[in-house]
Parts: sequence; C-alpha cells; structure tokens
Amino acid sequence: MKTIIILGGGVGGIVTANELRKKIGKEHKIIVVDKEQKHLFASSLLWVMNGTRKQKLISRQLSTLNKKGIEFVNGNIERFDPVNKEVTVNGNILKGDYFVVALGAEISDSMDINNKGYNIYTPEGSEGLNKALSQFKSGKVVVLVSSLPFKCPAAPYEAALLINSLLLKKGITPDIELYSPEVGPMGVAGKKLSAMLRGIVEERGIKYFPEHQAATVGDKSIKFNNEVSTAYDILAYIPKHQCPKVIKDTELVDESGWVKITNRNTLETKFAGVFAIGDITNIPLAQGKPLPKAGVFAHYQAQTVANNIALEITGKGTLKQFNGDGMCFIELGDSKAGFAKGNFYAEPLPTIKMFMPGFHWHVGKILFEKIFLSKWF
Ligand SMILES: Cc1cc2nc3c(=O)[nH]c(=O)nc-3n(C[C@H](O)[C@H](O)[C@H](O)COP(=O)(O)OP(=O)(O)OC[C@H]3O[C@@H](n4cnc5c(N)ncnc54)[C@H](O)[C@@H]3O)c2cc1C
Repeated sequence: MKTIIILGGGVGGIVTANELRKKIGKEHKIIVVDKEQKHLFASSLLWVMNGTRKQKLISRQLSTLNKKGIEFVNGNIERFDPVNKEVTVNGNILKGDYFVVALGAEISDSMDINNKGYNIYTPEGSEGLNKALSQFKSGKVVVLVSSLPFKCPAAPYEAALLINSLLLKKGITPDIELYSPEVGPMGVAGKKLSAMLRGIVEERGIKYFPEHQAATVGDKSIKFNNEVSTAYDILAYIPKHQCPKVIKDTELVDESGWVKITNRNTLETKFAGVFAIGDITNIPLAQGKPLPKAGVFAHYQAQTVANNIALEITGKGTLKQFNGDGMCFIELGDSKAGFAKGNFYAEPLPTIKMFMPGFHWHVGKILFEKIFLSKWF
C-alpha cells in the first residue's frame, strides 16, 4: 500500500488527486492537504469583480473529495521534509511515499497597499472593487501590477478591459490607466500576441504604461521608480507573489526563489518521489523567461504527474510527458473574449496562435469554468 500526499488543493492539487484516484486501487491512500476549507476557482474572480459571479458560485468544499476516496486534511502545512518524506500539518506528522507539491504562489501585501486599493486576486478584493465601481460616479481608475512575477499574465489586461466595459454600461466615460513593470502584455507568448493585446487595450482608450515599477503607494497616488507619479480615485492591484514560506527555506528552492524542477517534462524534483507542479515552480524557457504561472499549466502538469506516479505504483500504462502546451481565454469586455493557444517549450521561441476575438470564446470560458467545477468535485 502506498500513500500519496498532495500539498495544496488548488488547480494542480485537485486535478492530481482525481486523476490518481481513477488510476490506482483503493488500497493506496491519496491525501490532499490545504489550509483552506474551500477550493476557489480563481479564473472567475474577474467576473466577481464585474458583478457577474458571486464568490460562493466559484468555490467548492474540499471535504467533498472524501466521497471520492480522496482524504482531505484541512490544516496549515508548517514543515515539509522532502528527504524523509514527511509533512507537518497543524502539529501532526504525515508520512508519504510520494509527494506532489502544489502550493501555488503566496501573495503578500508589499508596499502596504492593502488598505488603499482592491487586491483583485482575492475574493474580498474583487467583491470590494465591484461595490466601489457600482457606487462610482467619476474619476480615475488605476490598475497596477505591483511586481513580477505574477500568475495569469492576461489578468491585469482583462481587468482593465472589464472595468472599461462596466463603466461604459453605467454611462461613465472611463478614465483608466494600467501600469506594469513588464515590457508589454503577455511577453512570453511573443511580440505579435503582445502587440495585439496592447492594441486592444489602447484602442479602447485605456492608457497603458509598461516598464513602470511602483515604488510607493500613497492614499490617492502612486510613485514609480522612474520618478513618474499618478493619482487615482480607485486602485485595483495585482499583489506581490512569492514562494510559500513553508517551502522557501527548503532545498527544493533554487536561486530563482521558486521550486526547481530537474525534468521539465515529468516535473520531478531532485528528491526521488517528490514532484512539484504549478505556480510554485520555476521552469526556464529557451528565451530566458520562465514558463508563466497559469492554471492551464498546473492542470496539464497534474495529469502528467498523476499518470507517472500511477505507472510507478501499478506498472500499468506508459510514461506521460508535459510538453509545454497551453491555452488561454482573454476576456475583453462586452461578452467578448480572445483565445490563444500554443507550445511554450518550442525553441527558440514559443509558438502561439491567437484567434479572432468574439462572443464564442467568452462562452468557451464560461463552459470551461462549469466543466472544471463539476468534473473535479
Ligand atoms: C484573477 C485570476 C485570474 C486567473 N485566470 C486564469 C486563466 O484564465 N487561465 C489560467 O490558466 N490561469 C488563471 N489564473 C491563474 C491560476 O488560478 C493559477 O495559476 C493556478 O491556480 C495555479 O494552480 P496551483 O495548483 O499551482 O496553485 P493554487 O491553485 O494557487 O493552489 C495552491 C493551494 O495551496 C494552498 N496552500 C498554500 N500554502 C499552504 C500551506 N502552508 N498549508 C496548506 N495549504 C496551503 C492554498 O490554500 C491553495 O489552495 C488566474 C488567477 C487569478 C488570481
């Protein structure tokens, strides 16, 4: 009998647990550990922000996994020892034969922005922003990427476009500025897609300021490292991301500050039987930038790792490889979305295709949300 312990019940953790359960017998134990009681489908937070979703519609109780024969342990992971393969959760030690580290990226309140703006990467921040926008009469909205890296490269651009569309519907002429330390939108996906998305943002009158790293955020103003400053009436921000503290000080992490993968196709770490997937990893690409932090990669990596652990345990099946494929819906407002897909491991540059935006991609994104939440819970 083997015990597989999955650290994190986010996108990567949920998919790994479900896929494994299908592939190995009930004599083997699958445990998912998460400090939260609920899984939150983060992609839909942008719809909480524009008022088309309520938080409870996009969350699922992790305890429902128990019905499928997946044990859910609700608790804070305080220590992980990849050498002895044990994890401490709320003071209790759990021992496993295999570990999948899927703890995502931790968000922190750098620059003390918390009480000045809305963190659109949390349900509270998205709900708060929605309320503020519904009461908004006039003024400037600033969307700020506070630092790099951040998950979901499209999200700040989608947020600005959705806010734009919401204000227009309210009969307000939008005054929106978008600041980011990036050179351009979704840079890893290539110059063409980046220019296309920038064009879509700017043709709607959103003022875009790339290569702007915020230095200080005041009550109604932001100062950037290049001496530029701007005032705002509403601030919507993407918070600083970091490797979760419990993993940061382990030998799993390299100089990038994130978990090092020794084989990007199988997601192995340097510790036998310990895999890492999703936002917590750093996977350098040929162009020098890392694989973006996105749910689609956590999802595909989870399927790979689950398959390969099951293969090791049962001896049945064939080895699966994560080959860098990814896709992304990009919400543009007015019930329209764009869609891009391609291969991020392609060399020398990722090969990504962007499809003509339209209503059908917006529907595709809604369908994806529904399928994800019903399939895995
Ligand atoms: C607004 C927004 C929009 C997005 N849109 C998209 C999109 O359209 N497409 C896309 O591909 N991606 C999107 N993403 C990104 C996507 O949500 C993440 O990339 C994905 O969730 C990463 O999966 P993961 O399993 O690595 O981590 P997560 O899903 O973040 O899961 C990590 C889990 O670990 C738990 N955890 C962390 N530390 C501990 C601890 N010490 N003890 C116990 N539990 C712990 C957390 O509670 C969490 O449940 C979006 C994200 C946001 C915020």
